[in-house]
Amino acid sequence: MKQQLQRLQEEFIASLATIDSEASLKQLESDYLGKKGKLKAILAGVKDLSIEDKKTVGVAANEMKKDFMIKLANKAWEIELAAFAQVESDEAIDVTIGYPSENLGHKHPISHTTELLEDIFISLGFKIEDGPQVEDELHNFDKLNIPHNHPARDVWDTFWISDDVNKNKDIWERLLLRTHTSPVQIRTMMSQELPIKIIVPGRVFRYEQEDARHTCNFYQLEGLVVGEGVTFGDLKWTLDTVMKQLLGEKTELRFRPSIFPFTEPSAEVDVSCQICNWSGEAKGKKCSMCSWTGWVELLGSGMVHPTVLEWCGIDSKKYSGFAFWMGIDRIAAQRFGVSSSRMFYQNKLKLNEQF
Ligand SMILES: [Zn+2]
Repeated sequence: MKQQLQRLQEEFIASLATIDSEASLKQLESDYLGKKGKLKAILAGVKDLSIEDKKTVGVAANEMKKDFMIKLANKAWEIELAAFAQVESDEAIDVTIGYPSENLGHKHPISHTTELLEDIFISLGFKIEDGPQVEDELHNFDKLNIPHNHPARDVWDTFWISDDVNKNKDIWERLLLRTHTSPVQIRTMMSQELPIKIIVPGRVFRYEQEDARHTCNFYQLEGLVVGEGVTFGDLKWTLDTVMKQLLGEKTELRFRPSIFPFTEPSAEVDVSCQICNWSGEAKGKKCSMCSWTGWVELLGSGMVHPTVLEWCGIDSKKYSGFAFWMGIDRIAAQRFGVSSSRMFYQNKLKLNEQF
């Protein structure tokens, strides 16, 4: 019987080596270890053996059964691994495949200009501040010395949040899309210690007729400096330095007296047109960017109105400040020689890919 068992083992090992599927493995298990399997058939003869031989053969048969079960389990694992490997190979994605670099894209001219402006201002000691695009009337108008009946509110026609949201609010709490980044100046003056030296780049919204210089959505950068002894001379030096760094040393600035509710005195700042090189004509035609004048209105500026300082809790007799604001879109148009800043929003890859 021992010889029978040995032959069975040899036969089992030889058969196992040919198995390559789960189904044939189960069949092999049944053939050898099942109720009507080959091992059981051999053990059926044990009853005729002596007690001594029964023990020996019984132990050997049990050992063999364990051995078969281990070998079957190992084979099952091998088959499973082979199946995984097959799936991996069939469904593999080659992550090393080369990506066409020409489709990676690059920064939009407005992002590029914003980052450049930020770098210049940071080099002059300014800090960057941010604020919400959906503002309330108090921060967007009232605190900036633009009360409800002020004619300035007619100038900045506004996108209001729907009546459903605003109908139960007090008048200064009504929500709108901010018309300028100035509310962030208010929030900063009300919450931070002096001196303040910040810029606020961000997206703003106006209900405007679109033309070469106006869009209903654009990017603005505002600056605010408040402290002791801040003068209009500081304002002029700052803007002159920034614009020359941004557009070139030959850039000229023109300050025109103006009126804004939140600054006094105030000035609009024109920059010599980069499109027509200050001539008013580009490529033999009248320059639409500067309306043939050679000057482009790029900035508003002025000394912060004492009332605005006081409303933000700052002693206007002790402290003074200047503020300025510029359209990043127009500056990008000047830098890149694009005749209409509106073109930046038309999603034309052929335009943006040039820069
Ligand atoms: Zn021009």
